[in-house]
Amino acid sequence: MARAPLRVLLLGGTGEARRLALALTEVGGFDVVYSLAGRVREPQVPPSCRVRIGGFGGPAGLAEQLRSERINALVDATHPFAARMSASAATAAAATGVPLLVLRRPGWQAQPGDDWRRVPSLPAAADLIDRFVPSQRGPSRCGAADDPTPRVFLTTGRSDLALFAGLHRPWFLARCVEAPTGALPPRLRVILDRGPFDVAGETELLRRHAIDVLVTKDSGGAMTAAKLAAARDLGLPVVMVDRPSIPSGFPVVSDIGPATHWLIGLASPGRIESHDGPQAGPAAASWRSTLS
Ligand code: NAP
Repeated sequence: MARAPLRVLLLGGTGEARRLALALTEVGGFDVVYSLAGRVREPQVPPSCRVRIGGFGGPAGLAEQLRSERINALVDATHPFAARMSASAATAAAATGVPLLVLRRPGWQAQPGDDWRRVPSLPAAADLIDRFVPSQRGPSRCGAADDPTPRVFLTTGRSDLALFAGLHRPWFLARCVEAPTGALPPRLRVILDRGPFDVAGETELLRRHAIDVLVTKDSGGAMTAAKLAAARDLGLPVVMVDRPSIPSGFPVVSDIGPATHWLIGLASPGRIESHDGPQAGPAAASWRSTLS
């Protein structure tokens, strides 16, 4: 008798979540519900699974959904800064006993030549920028060499611009996927764009706007990493906001391979675990042939 597919609720909104959804479709044997917060008007969704959009109503609402939809596994593949959703997933998983896996891409690492100042939070970044004094000799300051106004490139996302709204001295360039609303810094220019970005384009942008300092969250991943190489090349400092911590007590993986592996393990009763993962079961065999 054919086994029922493993029903997976995939908390998405990231490239990893989309790639995991596609991988699970290729493997087969999974019924994936892909969940989005609904922040973006035209979200990129995997073509292969059911999509639901909008919050669950906190941990209790998520727990209720896990029960009513008979979810067998929960995967938190949200943005590394989506701390409320991650906390909610952990609470709901603990309350219902539904297995939870956290899929979190690695953070960025400073390289030789980088001038990063790590801060624990966005308010700490705003505080640092409020006190920031630009170097007058930076290679990107052509045309702005006599201007003492700090010129700041903010790539923290539109919902975080309000934290910089009280800063009157710096001039800000903010890049967002959608137009920001609410409180904004008084001296602000917004450009609407969505990655991936390349180093040549980022270097040109930093030069054109005579940027003195870049502010970014440690989102990790390749899509938006080019700005860091451009800042390094131009000798610009980077204020790097550290990630919130991941709820403890659940397995964490950093890529879709081990995440697929974990789900196959749940879908294959009678599997034999080893360092290599599941050794038996039709889903495991299918997965090996798909990825090899
Ligand atoms: P959040 O603050 O952790 O989430 C706020 C609420 O949104 C959650 O409590 C939940 O509502 C709902 N939610 C979040 N992700 C969801 C999902 N995948 N499916 C269903 N509901 C979801 O996260 P955020 O507001 O999305 O973003 C927080 C930070 O992450 C921001 O700094 C943002 O710039 C950054 N970020 C997020 C995304 C993304 O796709 N989420 C992408 C890029 C950057 P309920 O409590 O009602 O369940």
